[in-house]
Amino acid sequence: MKISFHGADCGVTGSCHLIECAGKRILVDCGMYQGSRELEQENAEPFGFEPASIDFMLLTHGHLDHCGRLPLLVKRGFRGEVVTTAASRELAKIVLLDAAHLQEEEALYRLRKAGKSGGPGHPVPLYETLDALNSLDYFGRTPAYGQPLELAPGVRAKFIDAGHILGSACVLLELTEKGKSRRVLFSGDLGNAGRPLLRTPQSCPADTVVMETTYGNRLHKSLGSSVAELYEAINATFKRGGNVIIPTFALERAQELLYFLREGVEHGQVPDLRHVFLDSPMAISATRIFERHPECYGESTRAMFQEGKDPFQLPNLRFCREASESKAINDIPGGAVIMAGSGMCTGGRVRHHLRNNLGRPECGVVFVGYAAQGTPARHIIDGAKMIRLFGDEIPVKASIHTIGGFSAHADQSELIVWHARTQAKTTYLVHGEEKSMKALAPRLARTRVEMPTLNQVFEL
Ligand code: ZN
Repeated sequence: MKISFHGADCGVTGSCHLIECAGKRILVDCGMYQGSRELEQENAEPFGFEPASIDFMLLTHGHLDHCGRLPLLVKRGFRGEVVTTAASRELAKIVLLDAAHLQEEEALYRLRKAGKSGGPGHPVPLYETLDALNSLDYFGRTPAYGQPLELAPGVRAKFIDAGHILGSACVLLELTEKGKSRRVLFSGDLGNAGRPLLRTPQSCPADTVVMETTYGNRLHKSLGSSVAELYEAINATFKRGGNVIIPTFALERAQELLYFLREGVEHGQVPDLRHVFLDSPMAISATRIFERHPECYGESTRAMFQEGKDPFQLPNLRFCREASESKAINDIPGGAVIMAGSGMCTGGRVRHHLRNNLGRPECGVVFVGYAAQGTPARHIIDGAKMIRLFGDEIPVKASIHTIGGFSAHADQSELIVWHARTQAKTTYLVHGEEKSMKALAPRLARTRVEMPTLNQVFEL
């Protein structure tokens, strides 16, 4: 019985862990590395295991840093079954197709650039839309939360609610080999308790835990004060006559923002909200998926659905799918809230809106999510005076707001509580920067802590 680590080792992205038991090989997540260009080059490297030898891929949730290398896995020989919740399956579909499309565009762009400069360059996308489509054929069973699943003799799996994004799960594996039994719990990404859309992350007893540590060294501000900050940032920007740009992750954050903007309008806290744009085809598709899965919600939101009320609808909200609709936003000088992807400003339509608004002191940019090292979002948050967008240097003159309390991740205190309930003897820390892991490790009670490096193998 073995466990090995093939991504998100002393880093936040690229989650990929392998269990070997009773002659079966089970992968938990196969995520993409995201962030700086050097880090993203890691995606093309060999996996550290033979893809054709994998029997199951258990997907904790639909974020790209957890599912993004699946098409590559299939391209390189994986023919097993992908098991995940029904909502994660739907979200993963749009995430993978979008990722393939972005990579095709990026490769084309680099090809053109290489052609112009006459330099070397034979840019090949990591995978194409066809590869993403092929990978969807391998999605199999979609267990409900708490439903035990016999994957093979000696290998049982259970998905429990991780409260992170729609459909997200922790995965418990109950393994038996040669009379030895082990319970191994993968946290996936753990949610931040007390948010209106989702439930509090669940935990259960396990011998071994593989745990995310995104915010292992941080405590979040309360959600209530963060929502108030958001309303303040919008009202203040409108008073100056500017636009509010919110770089938005398409899954969960976009829907959460819609939820709070609607609440703000209903309670008179953002009285001048005349234009709201969700300028992200993927966020729009994700919102539709959210509307189809009321079974994933916490009590109050589910009740809202039952009353026939859509928690994501507000007056003056426009969904922009077409590029022409997105471009039309450029003509609005002020009074608009523009939510667009990507959340870390590494790509997507938000870069156009930043180009148009970042240099204007009357405008505001509100960051409401995680920003990895090396991304434009992180540079702006860290106080950069200039940002390079589409080859132009854009001065940062808009007021910059960073609101931490919207995090979809558990903070240090929540991680400690979740971990305590597992009573695990051994804990592998993953999915975090090293300083975050080192801050968390001594606070975890009565457990042996490991911080695995890439491709490291451990006996269970
Ligand atoms: Zn996630």
